[in-house]
Amino acid sequence: MKIIPRRTKIIATLGPATDSPEKMRALLTAGVNVVRINLSHGSQAQQASRILLAQKCAQELNKIIGVLVDLQGPKIRIARFADENGIVLAEGDNFALDAKLDTNAGNQAVVGLDYPELPAQVAPEDHLLLDDGRIVLIVKRVRGSRVECEVLAGGKLTSNKGLNRKGGGLSAPSLTEKDLKDIEFLSQYTVDYVALSFPKCKQDIVDARRLIEATGNTAQIVAKIERSEAIDNIDEIIEAADAVMVARGDLGVEIGYAELPAVQKYIISRARLCDKAVITATQMMESMIYNPIPTRAEVSDVANAILDGTDAVMLSAETATGDFPIKVVAVLDEICLAAERQRMARFPRQRDDAQFERHDKSIAMAAMYIANHVPIKAIITLTESGSTPLSMSRVRSGIPIYALSRHAKTRGRVTLFRGVYPVEFDLTLYKSWEISRSALETLVAQGILEPGDKVIVTKGDILGIGGYTNALKILTV
Ligand code: ATP
Ligand code: MG
Ligand code: MG
Repeated sequence: MKIIPRRTKIIATLGPATDSPEKMRALLTAGVNVVRINLSHGSQAQQASRILLAQKCAQELNKIIGVLVDLQGPKIRIARFADENGIVLAEGDNFALDAKLDTNAGNQAVVGLDYPELPAQVAPEDHLLLDDGRIVLIVKRVRGSRVECEVLAGGKLTSNKGLNRKGGGLSAPSLTEKDLKDIEFLSQYTVDYVALSFPKCKQDIVDARRLIEATGNTAQIVAKIERSEAIDNIDEIIEAADAVMVARGDLGVEIGYAELPAVQKYIISRARLCDKAVITATQMMESMIYNPIPTRAEVSDVANAILDGTDAVMLSAETATGDFPIKVVAVLDEICLAAERQRMARFPRQRDDAQFERHDKSIAMAAMYIANHVPIKAIITLTESGSTPLSMSRVRSGIPIYALSRHAKTRGRVTLFRGVYPVEFDLTLYKSWEISRSALETLVAQGILEPGDKVIVTKGDILGIGGYTNALKILTV
């Protein structure tokens, strides 16, 4: 077996800074596994062209990538400033939010708002946080459609930044009119994951899934955990979703940033126990929006998320609008590899007292036990739906898991899972007794395995049906 690939997956948000084919190719070559577009920004047409560009470049580079699309959800945002450079607020300034102001007429004194209900939902002394808490306002008084504030923490403010109240509780319906239109539009594209913003409970996910499926879209559902209510309902949300995102921006506003480290560890461990994937997001390499090197604190943060067990780390403005979109991916790749070399990142915590109702899960656990206790080079799992490699990757290990599937949808799905690598392989082309051999030959041909490597192969007797993995073999290439 050649080099051990990075286990932690890198998600990069696409935006103006990644728009040329050269930039996109460089971004994917630097190691991006999943591209994200955020439908809160840009037009449908712009975002669609980004999805298509990423998929085209991945194909040219012979790489399998996943596509994650973030729905705006009921995020409350300020409107736009007349000057595209925005404004700079200083502590003590008066600044107002006005739901009736023209949406393009923001200036040094006031800006529009996309949420007309805000004046009725806030009261004097409330703290309003903009752009994931970078700017803090305190409400002085509410006059009609205008919320008059004083600046407590200032800085540069540009158009369309998010707004939330410290402590949470601002309510808006879970899926907006815009989201419904965006869901409709997404059905024309190949999307592996759709992320729901601000779900509060299981029902929000069930409802969204129904709407998304009704358009013929088979994407997996990611629940962004960013509301204080979502923490209270975390188990039912994880259960209902396919993956969760620790969305630290708004979550930090709602529960207070000091609570974030513990809550991040809790969400990651619950997700892994429930056999769900988990993404850690927001401000991971924030200073690299403008600087070519990260702060030590950022390096530690990324490494700690990996030690917590995250499947993926995500970049937002660092790649979408930053000055060093390629460099930041290379830096993240380096930090991930170093963190993964630590014994703690690989130390298996087998589920010694767990009971498994499903055969495929018990096979997955047995495979991980063998992999962690016998000198095995790789695990090869023939998978229809991707659920066996998902279960396997919930157990920590340093052994790569190759997910061989004939379905592009499954290969896209597993791009997110820690330590799992998609490989195209159509088992229906072979007689049942030829499959293991052909699978190994495919991996040797791709330079992944070498003669002499000892590997585990799992597959199902009933070919072509998801959830039927019932066999495990140890083979030498
Ligand atoms: P969310 O809360 O959904 O994460 P956000 O505003 O924080 O919303 P991100 O996707 O995290 O958005 O991206 C961070 C910043 O990068 C945005 O605030 C925006 O300034 C910029 N950005 C992201 N995508 C785009 C885009 N397609 N076009 C222009 N700017 C973008
Ligand atoms: Mg959002
Ligand atoms: Mg963000």
